[in-house]
This record gives sequence, C-alpha cells and structure tokens, in this order.
Amino acid sequence: MRASVVATIGLGANLGDAPATVRAAFAAIAALAQTDLLRTSSLYRSAPVDSSGPDYVNAVVQVRTTLSAPALLAQLQTIEAAAGRERPYRNAPRTLDLDVLLYGDAHMDSPTLTIPHPRMQQRAFVLLPLAEIAPQLVSAQAMAAVQDQVVQRTE
Ligand code: ADP
Ligand code: MG
Repeated sequence: MRASVVATIGLGANLGDAPATVRAAFAAIAALAQTDLLRTSSLYRSAPVDSSGPDYVNAVVQVRTTLSAPALLAQLQTIEAAAGRERPYRNAPRTLDLDVLLYGDAHMDSPTLTIPHPRMQQRAFVLLPLAEIAPQLVSAQAMAAVQDQVVQRTE
C-alpha cells in the first residue's frame, strides 16, 4: 500500500454563494476516499488576479491521503464539476477552483499536473491562508513579496 502524504489544496470561488461553495468543498474533500482532512484555513476575500468578476473567496486545506497526486487532482476535478465548474475560457470566473499546491515534498511537472503549483508563491490569497494553517511552509520573504496584494480574512 502507498504511504500517506500530506497534501495542500488551494480553494477559490467567485460566482454564486462563494463562501457556501468553499465550505461545501471542505466537506467534499473530507469525504474523499483514502483521504483525511487535517486542517482548514479561515475564508479570505481577494480581488480577482488575472481573472474577472466578483471578489474571490479563498481558503487552503491540508489532507493526509494515500491517493497519488494525479488521482487526488482527478477527485478534486470531480468536486469542481459537481459545483458547476465550467471552463469557457482561460482564467474565467469560476464557481469553484481546486488546485493541488503541494504534495508532500514532491516535485512533478507533466502536461496536466505541476507541483508545487507554479504560481502559489506569487499569490497572497494562497500564502496568507497557508501561513495560517502551516506557517513553516511560508517564508517571511515570500510573504514580503506579496504584501501589496489586498487579501482580507473574513472568518
Ligand atoms: P487555473 O490555472 O486557473 O487553476 P484550471 O483550474 O482550469 O485553471 O486548471 C487548468 C489545468 O491546470 C487543469 O486541467 C490541470 O490539469 C492543470 N494543472 C496543472 N497543475 C495543477 C495543479 N497543481 N493543481 C491543479 N491543476 C493543475
Ligand atoms: Mg485550477
């Protein structure tokens, strides 16, 4: 049997009742097979970056899973689809976006999966919630680099 790995998942939503969508996604992730939900961040609000539409609600969770990274991504995409995710164009507003930020200390780069997530270090809406639940994973330097981005913790 595969050893378990701590994976970090980024959540974002900016259409419909975004806070409710993110909370429902916490529950859907907690219900995944071979996966235990370890920690969930607060919900944060941020203005769209490289996207459009209403403010985003973002959060980060950590899970312990025996799913492979591609299998975890496939499960997250099923949760996105169930939330009504459509991809009309790149960076379109979305009901729910679930990204694998980290998978243990693995590095991988395939056409469908790059880990660590290539843009996580540039995004305050990832680093702030991540620092809340796993401060050891966010350096002071990384936080300083995104300090101009407005992200508000909501609850
Ligand atoms: P966004 O970049 O805004 O999250 P999508 O959610 O539509 O865009 O994802 C586009 C593609 O990114 C997915 O089909 C997926 O295969 C790929 N991808 C590559 N690396 C990752 C990752 N670490 N987490 C999630 N998706 C990833
Ligand atoms: Mg995504």
